[in-house]
Amino acid sequence: MTAVKQAGTELPTAIAVSPHLDDAVFSAGGVLALLARAGWQVRVLTCFTASVADPRPFALSTQLDKGLPADVDYMALRRAEDRAAQRRLGLLPPVHLPLPEAPHRGYDSPAALFQPPRPDDTVGTRLRRQLRRRLVSADLVLAPQAIGDHVDHLLTARAVAATAPHARIAWWRDTPYVIRAPSARAPVPPDGRGATREVTVDIGAVLADKTAAAQCYPTQLGFQFGGVERVGETLSATARAAALGAAASYAFGEALEAGHTAHRILGAVGAALSDPAGTA
Ligand SMILES: [Zn+2]
Repeated sequence: MTAVKQAGTELPTAIAVSPHLDDAVFSAGGVLALLARAGWQVRVLTCFTASVADPRPFALSTQLDKGLPADVDYMALRRAEDRAAQRRLGLLPPVHLPLPEAPHRGYDSPAALFQPPRPDDTVGTRLRRQLRRRLVSADLVLAPQAIGDHVDHLLTARAVAATAPHARIAWWRDTPYVIRAPSARAPVPPDGRGATREVTVDIGAVLADKTAAAQCYPTQLGFQFGGVERVGETLSATARAAALGAAASYAFGEALEAGHTAHRILGAVGAALSDPAGTA
């Protein structure tokens, strides 16, 4: 039984480390919902969620181009969206680390967001300090592969690789970046995250929940999916591609690169929930 720790009565815990307010749900919302259904304590921790007063022009433009006036606290709005999404998936209330997003750290253009970290950007050190104590006791850690090369995703992947036991980490394929570039490879070298194997989890039972949770981020849906009405078809097409890629017998999957322990856990959770009668 995966839902009870061997050594006590405590429930097992999973922590998903999300760069931005939406990444964990878009990329691994199905696995998170399945873990919660299996009795796990699941929490999403998002790294870059700070409200910043008097933002630089490029940072402000990322708010204005979503139709939000300059006097709205954009990040407060997004933190509220995130709380609603986690509730929809049956997860614990999220943790929002007050680190500033890249446009507030000197990355001054769309292209700059996809360049390697700036030499004067010290946020990675602060992030590692924040993650170390939070990840040490987690039975399972989920994190981005950083497909798409967004600097915040890359710094998150590096910080998780530096602070959590590699065997317990499962690395998700960054959605929606992976939709735009299905064959893109993760920039974190394999030795940076330990030995991994791909595991694809059947998310057919929770795909509707994942879609509903993704729709809890209305400020992001136009930019990321082309509108709220396209979220369902996009997420189901991505899940179908993952299942096909794994030559699976089921229709919808999420594929992760998992360390040894994480691979075993996700295999067991996926099998138990797609076959609740235990007849497999
Ligand atoms: Zn992101």
